[in-house]
Amino acid sequence: LPKNIGWIGLGSMGYPMATNLLKKMGDETQFYVYDVVQEFIDKFVKDGAGRVHACGSTKEVTDKSDLILSMVPEGSHVRSVYLTPDTGALASDLRSKLLIDCSTIDTGTSLAVRAACASQHPGAHFYDAPVSGGVLGAEKGTLTFMLGCAETDVNFPLLNQLLGLMGGNLFPCGGPSLGLTAKLCNNYCSSLITLATCEAMNIGMASGMDPRVLANIFHTSTARSAIADDWNPVPGLCPEAPASKGYVGGFRVGLMAKDLGLAVESAERVGVKLVLGREGLGVYREAAGDERYKDLDSRVVYRVLGGREDW
Ligand code: NAD
Repeated sequence: LPKNIGWIGLGSMGYPMATNLLKKMGDETQFYVYDVVQEFIDKFVKDGAGRVHACGSTKEVTDKSDLILSMVPEGSHVRSVYLTPDTGALASDLRSKLLIDCSTIDTGTSLAVRAACASQHPGAHFYDAPVSGGVLGAEKGTLTFMLGCAETDVNFPLLNQLLGLMGGNLFPCGGPSLGLTAKLCNNYCSSLITLATCEAMNIGMASGMDPRVLANIFHTSTARSAIADDWNPVPGLCPEAPASKGYVGGFRVGLMAKDLGLAVESAERVGVKLVLGREGLGVYREAAGDERYKDLDSRVVYRVLGGREDW
């Protein structure tokens, strides 16, 4: 593995992911890091005990590193990281460098950034590698990586080894941007399973059922899902779930609204008929736009749907 690692974006996910890499890579590995928030850089530099170096721009990170990871919120941030004149990654000489973007963004932006890297710096290698598993998975190093390349890709063995330090599962998804496609399909499904679970639990409770009994029935029947079992949107059913802690922690509802919106856009682009996605997106957008809910876990849509918490 390269000895000079660059990291851009030290937020809720980036920070614990980079921390795992720092711990698991040898003492000779140096890290060059940048975030628009100086305090995140300072904290990571402090953790790094001499192995982490603060940079003033993405360009400085890419100048000093051979392999660069980015973990920022949206497509506009990825464009800014890579394409900003003079201070973005493309202002560096990227030949023979590996660039791995782990952000969940639209496939169009990812393909455009990849094309810009390849045309301006032949020999640069850009990959989409979004993750699933949340902040907890990032902390434990058990993320699932969805990688936008084939298993036969020349860099696959290295990517497999490197991302394996932060994750438990890695899937080569076949080609550029297909890692993102996989991620958006996953979140399309899980966001809508959440809404279906909210609605079904509401039907049961309004009809007089104990939600615990209903959740146990789901667990041994065809409504079984990770959402019902581990992330149940009804407070009090899963003690460790955000719903049981006032919807604090977990996966911010605005991020789910973003991902579901991107999945709906993908469906439109590839001509897939949807009956659930747009309707569901409206509910997530309503929650994300509500001061009371916007900073809470995505399962807070249960409140938008008027779910009971006093059972
Ligand atoms: P976050 O907002 O906590 O962190 C993003 C970080 O990027 C921030 O520290 C921000 O300052 C920094 N940043 C923004 N623009 C930048 C720029 N131009 N240059 C340098 N730094 C910049 O977000 P997060 O929760 O870490 O999510 C990051 C990505 O991971 C998103 O695309 C999200 O959808 C995806 N994701 C998040 C989770 C989760 O549970 N939070 C799970 C899976 C995937």
